[in-house]
Amino acid sequence: MHIKDQVALVTGGGSGLGEATARHLAAQGAKVVIVDFNIERAEEVASEIGALAVKTDVSDEAAVCAAFDAAAKRFGSAPRIVINCAGIGMAARIVGREGKLSFDVFERTLKVNLFGTYNVMSHGARRMAELDALDTQERGVIINTASVAFEDGQLGQAAYAASKGAIASMCLPAAREFAQSGIRVMAIAPGLFHTPMMEGLPEEIAQKITANIPFPPRLGTPHEYALLAEQIITNTFLNGTTIRLDGAVRLPPR
Ligand code: NAD
Repeated sequence: MHIKDQVALVTGGGSGLGEATARHLAAQGAKVVIVDFNIERAEEVASEIGALAVKTDVSDEAAVCAAFDAAAKRFGSAPRIVINCAGIGMAARIVGREGKLSFDVFERTLKVNLFGTYNVMSHGARRMAELDALDTQERGVIINTASVAFEDGQLGQAAYAASKGAIASMCLPAAREFAQSGIRVMAIAPGLFHTPMMEGLPEEIAQKITANIPFPPRLGTPHEYALLAEQIITNTFLNGTTIRLDGAVRLPPR
């Protein structure tokens, strides 16, 4: 699918990977809708790239539905491109010090990362299916964001890895289900990227992390994520799989 003039909805578009993707798609002529809980950041980015910003908690299904309504109202069409970047990365042991259990972390992480992605994918696919097919027979493309933790989750990442594993696992059944409507579903599993999520780490830990990345021996840039999103959008034969984007990193146990 060509990007120019398509409506593209990007969750988490106020920061990090989502922000870079929103900027990249806008630069290619897409009409971008930034869906983010942090409306100040979303509006800042949106005003720079001529996008629409909508304050939405992706874990709230009604709010997600309203965000798609706002997108259609502003741009006159449902998005053909939906990219899920909103996510949180809470760490906790399953059984913590002195036996403290971490159900709260598990529930919150699954709600935002997994249910949020599922909400956005569901509403996106339903609306895409009503659009006319393009000359490639496509109606739309959905890109969800997993993490390399879907395969090599570290100690303390049980909740995060579970949420990302589920995003990777539902990619194929979703692609199979939506195939009859000409809608593709892909997932990107980023390794370690230079975003605000990572910037909070102490220097010593950041160095330890990059030491594990074979090549290039540095954090990924959000623009590199956006480049893969572009390839997925424009390459119609990519469907139903999760691509690791990670400089060959395999996360150690801790
Ligand atoms: P980030 O914190 O820079 O950006 C995440 C954005 O999502 C923020 O703008 C935040 O406001 C928004 N958000 C969070 N919860 C939300 C909610 N409930 N509803 C709506 N918006 C919400 O993070 P990032 O590093 O850009 O990460 C983006 C995605 O990539 C996440 O899903 C993350 O798990 C995944 N990921 C990141 C890395 C990395 O190294 N940065 C690695 C692997 C996977």
